[in-house]
Amino acid sequence: MVTALQHGTWIEEEGFKNTCIKENKKRGGIHQPFYGTWVADSMLRQDAGRFMLGKYLSDKKIPWQRRRRLGMAVAGNTPTASFLTKIGKMQSAECRLCRIVREARGESTEDLAAETHGHISSAGCAGMETTVTAAHHSIWRHLYDSMHAAQKPKSKLEFVTLDKESNMSTLWRREEFLRICSKEDLAEKA
Ligand SMILES: [Zn+2]
Repeated sequence: MVTALQHGTWIEEEGFKNTCIKENKKRGGIHQPFYGTWVADSMLRQDAGRFMLGKYLSDKKIPWQRRRRLGMAVAGNTPTASFLTKIGKMQSAECRLCRIVREARGESTEDLAAETHGHISSAGCAGMETTVTAAHHSIWRHLYDSMHAAQKPKSKLEFVTLDKESNMSTLWRREEFLRICSKEDLAEKA
């Protein structure tokens, strides 16, 4: 991403769409980011990552502590064990939250993951798993409701799980889905 930033290689929206279509044809799907990481792709897209980031950081209605925390994440100086070890303030970069959970479960505390910002923001961290999963569900619910609210009257899209979350198995207990195909056929295609 740094190279792209140095060369001013921003991805304008039309170009990004064309690249996606081209790559999709070439690879039969897009399973890898174009610029090394998904974050880099988002940050380099016009009106996407940088735009949203700037909007959030300059929004005075958002408490300063929250904006500061995001600023630290972007700057890479969140006081995680990983960062504190790097600047000589801690002896080990191992995740302290994972250690607490493993000790409570009576499990081995060997091979703990490094406590980076990315790690503690993911469900991969045993100490943050419940919180991160709840945040994920809450964001998805917000997106789902927003898409439903923005739906045009002519749209044929049907939102089938507005009342509660469902998985394929519970959805296929419903008659209208069974009319599309059997659960066995669905499993085979999947
Ligand atoms: Zn952890």
